[in-house]
Amino acid sequence: MGPREDRSILRDGERVLLLDPKERRYLITLRAGASFHTHVGIVSHDDLIGIPEGSTALGSTGRKFVVVRPTLSDAVLKMPRGAQVIYPKDLGAILIEADIAPGARVLEAGVGSGALSMALLRAGADVVGYELREDFAERAASNVEAMVGPGASYRVDLRDVYEGIDEQGLDRILLDLPEPWRVLPHAELAMRPGGILCAYLPSINQTSQLRAAMERSGFGMASTIEVLHRTWHIEARSVRPDHRMVGHTGFLTTARLLVPHDDEAPPVGAGPSEQPRWSPGPNGTDRLDVSDGPGDAEGVDGPNG
Ligand code: SAH
Repeated sequence: MGPREDRSILRDGERVLLLDPKERRYLITLRAGASFHTHVGIVSHDDLIGIPEGSTALGSTGRKFVVVRPTLSDAVLKMPRGAQVIYPKDLGAILIEADIAPGARVLEAGVGSGALSMALLRAGADVVGYELREDFAERAASNVEAMVGPGASYRVDLRDVYEGIDEQGLDRILLDLPEPWRVLPHAELAMRPGGILCAYLPSINQTSQLRAAMERSGFGMASTIEVLHRTWHIEARSVRPDHRMVGHTGFLTTARLLVPHDDEAPPVGAGPSEQPRWSPGPNGTDRLDVSDGPGDAEGVDGPNG
């Protein structure tokens, strides 16, 4: 057997995903001699150990079960959870919005069931988690180990992030807790300039409170998104969006820690006669000073707009 097939072979102790004929999904851990009971039949683990993932196994009643290794998304949706997890669609967006890369030094709070931790670790980050509840911290650690393995660069401390952050020079801070604005003053001290803070919040009023707090903080370049993810039904002539979708999960807000500068002082290199490019408009709103030239006025109302 070539190395390609070899990587597919399922082994004792591994987690696998079983799909029954109705595509219901079951996450199980293979144990020699054990059996998995569903209401459509019993599957013997010994029939799965040693075969390649992607195979079809027969249950006791002759039903067919497809067996594959779970993806991160399968694991997040099927793993034991105490706290609500971040959905896979949002995990993907967080990795890009927060620009998670191998070796990034990340603080995550709260850790909950560890879904976000798994995504961060799989992307190569070094993760320290702060979590209030011991039972959640333990569950996160075991979920992470099952998905990422025992060697992950991962530690969870039992503590309240609202009270402060001990780490220094962090590249990223990821927050999934109710009052992320209370973390901003600590984040400013714990992060390096240019670092990215990303907060996940279920409601828009929390999000606007965070954005208002960011306005008064050292964070800038703020942005807020939500991710809409719609699956499609594709079968013969019936090709259309599925009737059901996850309508709402949360809003993602990111901002970057900027180096403070004094608004009153002239910009570096500016002569005494130079005016700031932005000046208050006639009705008190900030308008672009178009005297700089047409190239700078793109997308902004001109004098007649
Ligand atoms: N992102 C996680 C889910 C987090 S649920 C996942 O994907 O699995 C929110 C978690 O924040 C809960 O576990 C809660 O105990 C924790 N939490 C709430 N406030 C906190 C605080 N001030 N400091 C640390 N953890 C906190």
